[in-house]
Amino acid sequence: MFSKERENQVVELCQELIKAPSYSGEEGEVVEVIKKAFDRLGFDEYFVDEYGNIIGKIKGKKPGKKILFDGHIDTVPVPDKSKWSFGPFDGTISDGKIYGRGTSDMKGQVGAMISACAYFAKDCNKDFEGEIYVAGVVHEECFEGIAARKISTAVKPDYVVIGECSELNLKIGQRGRGEIVVETFGKPAHSANPDKGINAVYKMATVIQEINKLEPPVHPVLGKGILELVDIKSAPYPGASVVPEYCRATYDRRLLVGETMESVIKPLQELAQKLMENDPQMKIKVSYSVGKEKCYTGN
Ligand SMILES: [Zn+2]
Repeated sequence: MFSKERENQVVELCQELIKAPSYSGEEGEVVEVIKKAFDRLGFDEYFVDEYGNIIGKIKGKKPGKKILFDGHIDTVPVPDKSKWSFGPFDGTISDGKIYGRGTSDMKGQVGAMISACAYFAKDCNKDFEGEIYVAGVVHEECFEGIAARKISTAVKPDYVVIGECSELNLKIGQRGRGEIVVETFGKPAHSANPDKGINAVYKMATVIQEINKLEPPVHPVLGKGILELVDIKSAPYPGASVVPEYCRATYDRRLLVGETMESVIKPLQELAQKLMENDPQMKIKVSYSVGKEKCYTGN
């Protein structure tokens, strides 16, 4: 049941969440706000895992399935506060709207999910089947899915509802993402005598053209697998009078249901192998890109 009192509580909780800045890897303060909300609203228990995700639980009186409501609690940064008409961490209400960094992505949703689950449990006196979980996920903005996986392993939910903005439409799926790095290795030489070297960028140009001929898979609902070149770098850089000995290209691959780490990279590795067999000066490496970030827990 929704009441004026509860409406105010939801709005206040959203404001409290906004007032606790939580850039990726710095979510400790907002987790403390969520702990207090779980206590205040009568959650049965909660825990914080090694990445710093916080997971609250309400158990029904009857056994049944588990539903998990999931929202990330980190936000993108505020590069320039002066460009904001309201303070990014004030949670100001103006003209019926709350302003602040992360309000719609996703502190509003996290506050709403915590509140809705608590009110539902109160209104039915926990006379429902199964268990309800609400999770505040860390490090989503740059490492989407990594911290959430930890929660799935701990909770093993039957259903998951993610509260990301979807124009109030029900979205039933999303493509995943893989970042693939392609490297070519040449031989440096003075650019006055390029014949003495192997230009890694020329080699990369050939590789890129061949990769363009690959056809990524298609899924009837999710669409194309996509394999798009997103950046390219050569070394040395700047390469004043030097034939570049190294070139690195990054590809963004959107992943479909049923694909694996091995199946996604295999066509590229096979292509590289073929190109190297045809050209003894061609040296290519294909791998997944690796990223490292620290959690506020130190993990
Ligand atoms: Zn988001």
